[in-house]
Amino acid sequence: MRSSFRLFKVLGISIEVHITFILFLLLVLIAGPATFVFFFIIFSIILAHELCHSIAAILSGIPVPRIILLPFGGLASIELPENPLTELKISLSGPFFNFFLAGISLALIKLLSLHLFGYGQLLDMLVEGNTGIFTASYVLSMLAMVNLLLGLFNMLPAFPMDGGRVFRSILALWIDYAKATQIAGRIGQMVFLLLVLAGILTFNIWWIIVGLFLMYASGGEVKFVLLKKTFQGLLMRDIISEQRKLPIVEGSVFVKDFMTMFAKPDQRFYLIANQDGTLKGILDLNEVSQASMQEKLKTVGSLAKEDYETVEGSVSVEEGMKKILSNDITLIADGDVVLGYMTPELFFEMTQFYSLKNKPENKTLSIS
Ligand SMILES: [Zn+2]
Repeated sequence: MRSSFRLFKVLGISIEVHITFILFLLLVLIAGPATFVFFFIIFSIILAHELCHSIAAILSGIPVPRIILLPFGGLASIELPENPLTELKISLSGPFFNFFLAGISLALIKLLSLHLFGYGQLLDMLVEGNTGIFTASYVLSMLAMVNLLLGLFNMLPAFPMDGGRVFRSILALWIDYAKATQIAGRIGQMVFLLLVLAGILTFNIWWIIVGLFLMYASGGEVKFVLLKKTFQGLLMRDIISEQRKLPIVEGSVFVKDFMTMFAKPDQRFYLIANQDGTLKGILDLNEVSQASMQEKLKTVGSLAKEDYETVEGSVSVEEGMKKILSNDITLIADGDVVLGYMTPELFFEMTQFYSLKNKPENKTLSIS
């Protein structure tokens, strides 16, 4: 099932809403028009914040395929380079936008001698349905407060918040990138744990959800960076062994015959060939249904998955691992020649080996 839906496209970036966001929107609509307008403004600001990160990324030559809105914020899918200065620029651009907008709003309030409402007042007026919410004072105060809070929250030195990334990139100017990520990640875990605890103590379910989500996101990103380091310097072709050859079966073979003649209990994937010997697709035993076994004339060719993913053998593991981890199977190829394959399971099995192998040698004392 699809988990997010596109709203529109801007600067080549697909702006999408997560399915949980749609449910959240329904709740907000039920709560009344004032609440809806309130959240509409907040999410427009969050979207603008993510767009600022994205523009900074695009200017640094990094493509941004999508921005996803979630009930508790936005996520721009930016593959940050392991370059501290670029990361610093991209991470700072979002909060910078919030502080800039807050500054302009505050300046306008001062210039036009308007009243500045505090955050509590803003919320109270909204809940009361006070008509004052349609005044310039209210709107500008809201812009100032929301942007200030969002900017400050994002600048928490907790990885993977923007502030945590800033902290990591500054650390990475001096120490190893993976080590810097680990330290920033640990601080992040502590800050988010505090957020969850504060949420429990004050019965604030929102803080608990956001804290747990960020703890999870932080752990995942740290693991990914460490994994990259484990395979540093290796190419995709280096990590496929002789055993990684897939059995080749001709597409015209009937499924029934395939099961008796070719299928093996310890083999899940098979390469399915066209008559001219070219590759048609991959057969995944886990996706062959009982129903297709009943059909006498069903061939393996008709069941082969033709939109399989490939990674060139000459690509570095660091570059190719994202594809491997997000697909059931990825073929490793040298042009048209299939060298072998990789699955997330096989990949994780190898991590221990390579993390031991890539460790700097221990100094041992010699006994003479
Ligand atoms: Zn941000």
